[in-house]
Amino acid sequence: MRFDIMTLFPELISYVLGESIIGRAQKSGAITVKAHNIRDYSEDKHRRVDDTPYGGGMGMLMAAPPIYNCYESITKENPEGSRRVIFMSPKGKLLDQKKAAELSKYDNLIILCGHYEGVDQRIIDEIVDEEISIGNYVLTGGEIPACILVDCVSRLVPGVLSADECYESESIACGMLEYPQYTRPLEFHGVKVPDILLSGHHANIDKWRTEQALEMTRRMRPDLLGEEDRN
Ligand code: SAM
Repeated sequence: MRFDIMTLFPELISYVLGESIIGRAQKSGAITVKAHNIRDYSEDKHRRVDDTPYGGGMGMLMAAPPIYNCYESITKENPEGSRRVIFMSPKGKLLDQKKAAELSKYDNLIILCGHYEGVDQRIIDEIVDEEISIGNYVLTGGEIPACILVDCVSRLVPGVLSADECYESESIACGMLEYPQYTRPLEFHGVKVPDILLSGHHANIDKWRTEQALEMTRRMRPDLLGEEDRN
């Protein structure tokens, strides 16, 4: 799977996504992540990419032409396969695991990161298939949201996680929260690992984990079970 990210701050993207599991997935070829600097596509001699909004108002808006030139270059370079163009935006639908699974089926995601006051509406209307928000709050730019989107979609792409990092039993993906987990040391600050996990009885361990997962979900995220939050 290939991700093309249109941004004014490509180093931010490369830095965040170049480490750990997502970095390794890029090296192994399971995914390709390319951050494109919109400024490189400015037709202005000073490489300007923003301007004041018509009608007045605060701040600067990212102009349409450099973004369009960047988009055109990406689609020319990589014309094959299924593609979805996403604008990271607080106006979009909230990102969740279902949306990540849906997006993981595409060959190519092109992701536009806004900055400053946002982006000229005409570029959104012309090239964007959907707007996605990562939460009900406003950030300074779309780069962190784009990294979050790439990370959670990539985890669902075959070859990104190893077998022992399987996502299916994890919180949310499995429909509830994951059971609590423990590792060495056996005792930490006077608290011992639950005896059941040392018993070697796999059926009992599975039963305990299911009970714990249910209890934790009921307590922390009852909405996942269709129950009301009583906190
Ligand atoms: N003026 C815009 C508005 O009121 O909708 C907000 C612009 S925001 C300061 C700058 C950029 O950050 C946005 O264009 C978007 O790309 C990104 N951004 C901010 N909050 C976001 C969120 N919750 N989810 C996704 N992207 C976000």
